[in-house]
Amino acid sequence: AAGEQWLLAGYLALKSAPPPVRIFLNMYSFIFPVKDVGSLTRYDDTAVITDWQKKLTLEQFYITREKGTELPFTGIYLNNRDPGMYHCVCCNAPLFREEIQFQQGWASFSEAFGACGTDENNTNILRCPDTSLGSTSMEVICKRCDAHLGHVFDDGPRSSGQRFCINSVSLIFKPSLD
Ligand SMILES: [Zn+2]
Repeated sequence: AAGEQWLLAGYLALKSAPPPVRIFLNMYSFIFPVKDVGSLTRYDDTAVITDWQKKLTLEQFYITREKGTELPFTGIYLNNRDPGMYHCVCCNAPLFREEIQFQQGWASFSEAFGACGTDENNTNILRCPDTSLGSTSMEVICKRCDAHLGHVFDDGPRSSGQRFCINSVSLIFKPSLD
């Protein structure tokens, strides 16, 4: 109320100021533009990161959002043999379904849920070339939320020839009810 009246008075005073003052003010606002804080719908990286930090544990955040890797043979799903579905810990997308049957230090799968042969269009994973491990390898991320899941190698023991090494931290297992 009172503040608004002062703002209005100031605005009117500036509007009626002599031209040199107005030119100076225009230049000032050009050099120091007022930050646009009104567009809340605009994509904001910082907001997204803060959101994940609130939603995830420190370890989950480190693995899935900062591309960390859990220590070998420490994953909680390493020895899981129950039938069920492994979901993305960040967005709940179903990622892998089969029982894990070969040990590689990390939870290992021979294909993503929804894969049809080599066609992964109907899966919830994406592959991205990754050179951080020395030689080029394939990073596996969640198609829905970009979570880092692990890596995939083409020396798998099953017919698919694929070996997905996935951090247990980035997964949530939901056992089949039947
Ligand atoms: Zn996800």
